[in-house]
Amino acid sequence: MTTHKVMLLPGDGIGPEIMAEVRRVMGWIEGAYGVSFDVSEGLIGGCSYEKFGHPLTDDTLAQAKASDAIVMGCVGGPQWDGKTDYDKRPEAGLLRLRKDLDLFANLRPAMCFDALADASSLKREYVAGLDILFVRELAGGVYFGEPRGIEDLPGGGRVGINTQRYTDQEIIRIARVAFEMARKRNGLVHSAEKANVMESGLLWREEVTKLHAAEYSDVKLEHILADNCAMQLVKNPKQFDVILTDNLFGDLLSDAAAMLTGSLGMLPSASLGSGGPGLYEPVHGSAPDIAGQGIANPIAAILSFAMALRYSLDMGDAADKVEAAVSKALDSARTGDIWADGFEKVGTTGMGDAILKTLG
Ligand code: NAD
Repeated sequence: MTTHKVMLLPGDGIGPEIMAEVRRVMGWIEGAYGVSFDVSEGLIGGCSYEKFGHPLTDDTLAQAKASDAIVMGCVGGPQWDGKTDYDKRPEAGLLRLRKDLDLFANLRPAMCFDALADASSLKREYVAGLDILFVRELAGGVYFGEPRGIEDLPGGGRVGINTQRYTDQEIIRIARVAFEMARKRNGLVHSAEKANVMESGLLWREEVTKLHAAEYSDVKLEHILADNCAMQLVKNPKQFDVILTDNLFGDLLSDAAAMLTGSLGMLPSASLGSGGPGLYEPVHGSAPDIAGQGIANPIAAILSFAMALRYSLDMGDAADKVEAAVSKALDSARTGDIWADGFEKVGTTGMGDAILKTLG
């Protein structure tokens, strides 16, 4: 029997509640697919700080590195805001995990389930069936480039400086991820940059073009200026399959696209490195306003686990099955954040029940 080592890091706030539902889905998959999950559970964020004085311990990090996939809940909460040193904040645990695992590729699907198409800010016909995958570079670009800072100007006044910087190798490794993903999907990559006004954009375009010609000519490649991409995302979002972009543009474009799909409680993400385990987590935070009430939507966490099945555990069929079950469950049951007239209002466990019932 195949055994997959999975590390679960529920984290703070609603994390433990939504992760309990992930565990139930894992149990169903073990029975249905004849695999075994060797699960270890650790602390990250504020809860780790409370117990160990640090948001991610060396032990937990080592265990995470030794696993096949890491599924995280969420970190943070007002009880730690401004009360700890910067490197002891709950988010510092997550940043350390990303950095130590060299997770340079952030995958964010923007999927609109048919049942939720009316919850979008766009008309149903523009978003029903929407399925875009953003491949965002996560480890470079203007958020990290040097020089940076705020300086006094000699003649008075101040200047704020950040540097957009990408090497050819950084561009090639993220472009490769996008082309590989497109091969598993609908075979189309839009590469978004600003080659018209930025040298880093020009290099991006040149390197993506070269890699495409050398290794991925079976995939269709379109170059698109990032500002036009923003416009097209609200004009005709269904034209896209995979959108490849840098750290800054990816931040903005994927957030805009996320909102086309309805609720924050629905959105999963994956961060991949060049060999070690991937990190899978909901896009949302720890929702302190509803934590402990049993009403959080567990779907983003469950869909994050589905991404782990697909991208780290080579169980694409099981991932399809989980995603289809989520879609079907939404026809009857809804948590408060996505509830509408005519549907049964359920809590976190109730939503898990509906998904498991659909799985059979
Ligand atoms: P948030 O995503 O936690 O919540 C925003 C709103 O969405 C809240 O009203 C919340 O109740 C709702 N919401 C979020 N997830 C939901 C779910 N699964 N089901 C139902 N409703 C849901 O964002 P915030 O309030 O700005 O941040 C709260 C804390 O989370 C902060 O400490 C922040 O730093 C942290 N945070 C962590 C992550 C992460 O762990 N990756 C990401 C963002 C924010």
